[in-house]
Amino acid sequence: MEARTMVDASGNLLQHAGSYEDLLEFLNATPIGIIRLRSDGEILLANSMAMQLLAPLAPDGECGDLFRMLGGLFPDLPDRVAAHPQAGPICAQAQLSLPGTRRVLSFGLDRVNADTLMAVVQDVTAQVEQNRRIHADEERFRAIFDNLRDCAICTVDREGRIEAWNRSLERLGGWQPEDVVGASISILFTPGRIGAHRASSLLAKARQNGAAEFEGWGQRKNTDLFWCSTAATALPAEDGEVGGYVLVTRDLTGRKEAEAKLMTLATTDPLTGANNRRTGEKRLNEEFRRWQHYGRNFAVLLVDCDHFKKVNDQYGHETGDAVLCMLVWLCRERTREADVTVRWGGEEFLVLLADTDADKSLMIAERLRESIESRLVENAGQTVRVTVSIGLALPNSGDNRPDDVVRRADVALYEAKRTGRNRVVVA
Ligand code: GH3
Ligand code: MG
Ligand code: MG
Repeated sequence: MEARTMVDASGNLLQHAGSYEDLLEFLNATPIGIIRLRSDGEILLANSMAMQLLAPLAPDGECGDLFRMLGGLFPDLPDRVAAHPQAGPICAQAQLSLPGTRRVLSFGLDRVNADTLMAVVQDVTAQVEQNRRIHADEERFRAIFDNLRDCAICTVDREGRIEAWNRSLERLGGWQPEDVVGASISILFTPGRIGAHRASSLLAKARQNGAAEFEGWGQRKNTDLFWCSTAATALPAEDGEVGGYVLVTRDLTGRKEAEAKLMTLATTDPLTGANNRRTGEKRLNEEFRRWQHYGRNFAVLLVDCDHFKKVNDQYGHETGDAVLCMLVWLCRERTREADVTVRWGGEEFLVLLADTDADKSLMIAERLRESIESRLVENAGQTVRVTVSIGLALPNSGDNRPDDVVRRADVALYEAKRTGRNRVVVA
């Protein structure tokens, strides 16, 4: 007779039509151990998988009593059974680790009626091992994630709302989970429309190219700005679309400060803070090119301290240094932001006046000379007054290089020295 099993919508066996042998064959082929036993633990019926799984628990080969076999692993099983006199579950999916091996069994027990119990045993070693590995990976990942000192990591949904974040976001920006979870990532950028635009264009680029990076100002919770880089990586969803993003923000404040310091060191004179000669030459070249191409005028002042050697000799080198600092300070004070003050030599300064004609530059030079003459420099209880001679030159049609302008300013300076000092001479 053909074997048929009919099951209702809830999975209850309605009818089995087939031979007893068919049923035994079916039970023995089942990859789950099934045991029918009495309330005192005596095994009435067990399929081959059940015996295969439980046999190692019966070192004396005695497989008749389930409670005895499980005694070492599940000592209170008889008590539990006694505590459940009604039909129904007694224990579900208890995990039993077999001693001396890595094997783990899942064990479930149900009461069928007053005298009979039904046990289900399954080898879950592989699943347990896999779960353990996933858990260990998760723990390891979380430890790395949380302890990245200079990186804040957050995951963001498709719309740019923060979903999860690591503790570095707190260290980096002073944010608490309630401040950021669910909020738009634009809160991590500068406030207003610019920050919102940067946030959305970063995600748009990541959506298009898989990843994108932004370097610029970020904002802390207390609204302080900090220099940072934010890398966004798109996360694919199951439908092949972008499901969200991972954002990694690094605080680059230290790097930015170091860069700024290096930049200052490379471009300025350490004593006076004026531009160094190399930077001055670069700016002079740029101005000269603008004059050649667009006819935009500029002027060069060579400012040299008169009898500076005497200042050093009479008041000491330190006072001499203070005088040099004062000269630079006044050169800057008497000129505009766009003009450039350069330490051209020991006590000689070049002032580059941008976009300035002859009359205006002479007026500026004269005012500078006067203000230096009327200034007293005090250092270590000493009071010094110095004067400067200034050579002034503007580019003319005979000039082929910026040096030509400087050379003529130098000739004018020499002339100012020769004709009595503390004066401006125009080339
Ligand atoms: P003149 O009016 O002809 O320019 O005379 P001067 O004494 O100013 O010119 P001179 O070129 O003979 O002397 C320049 C002096 O500037 C010599 C040098 O020791 C001094 N000097 C150069 N650099 C520094 C500096 O960084 N600090 C100090 N204190 N003195 C400096
Ligand atoms: Mg001098
Ligand atoms: Mg000199």
